Amino acid sequence: ARKPYRDTLVVITGAGSGIGRATARAFAAHGADVICADLDRKAAAETAEGIERAYPVAAVSYELDVSDASRMEDFAGWVREHHGVPDVVVNNAGVAVAGPILEHSLDDWHRIIDVNLWGVVHGCRLFAKQMVERGEGGHIVNIASLAAFAPSRLLPAYSVSKAAVKSLSDVLRAELAGHGIGVSAICPGFVSTNIARNAVFVGALDRRPAVKALERRSYPPERVAAHILRAVHRNEAVVPVNAEGKIGYTLSR
Ligand code: NAD
Repeated sequence: ARKPYRDTLVVITGAGSGIGRATARAFAAHGADVICADLDRKAAAETAEGIERAYPVAAVSYELDVSDASRMEDFAGWVREHHGVPDVVVNNAGVAVAGPILEHSLDDWHRIIDVNLWGVVHGCRLFAKQMVERGEGGHIVNIASLAAFAPSRLLPAYSVSKAAVKSLSDVLRAELAGHGIGVSAICPGFVSTNIARNAVFVGALDRRPAVKALERRSYPPERVAAHILRAVHRNEAVVPVNAEGKIGYTLSR
């Protein structure tokens, strides 16, 4: 079989679960060596071990909080020193807080913006710099959300963070095009992962029926991963995925 990613290095954050894990596996299946970073050290290691059992590639794991600027700097330095400049970086780690905007505490806002926006900013600036210095191009994939276009009253801070990630991706794409570096914003509707179960629920919103309603829908993360590989291959700018899978109380536009 053709291995388009042989001898390439892909870094994925949030690779311990869901879309991140599926994306790491998909790149590895196409021949890439992968670095699987996650806040959950064990989950990241499980992803990497599973990949090495399944595919003839190198897969390593790294415990990482993407919202921590100095940890991100250490991580980027470690990647370059031990593995070289990555060819593809997937800024995927993200969290959700569900509930009405007026019920969001300052901590809720910080949690969302710190991980979903700052995590992506750190990943973009550190690795884009490495790619520009190396001068051999590359690709940065940021996982935004359908909520970037269709903000949800159930996910207000989350929607704001994802609109910012989409905007960041647009700016970066224009800036890096001259260096042969592509930037894609992936914008999925609901995907069946752990994110709903792990979400913080605020206000009167009842967690169990909300999670149950979401879990009745089914959209596998492997399908998102396929869109991500295609987006890199074709250098697509903005990629809606499962646009039917809007999450409750979506504001119409
Ligand atoms: P998930 O919860 O299954 O996986 C997220 C992973 O990120 C987990 O392994 C978690 O440990 C890790 N993580 C959380 N905070 C982190 C941090 N500070 N540093 C490093 N890792 C951290 O969720 P998922 O659905 O696979 O989410 C992946 C991305 O896709 C997120 O950015 C999410 O917002 C986005 N997304 C998800 C959906 C969906 O419906 N599932 C829809 C659109 C976009």
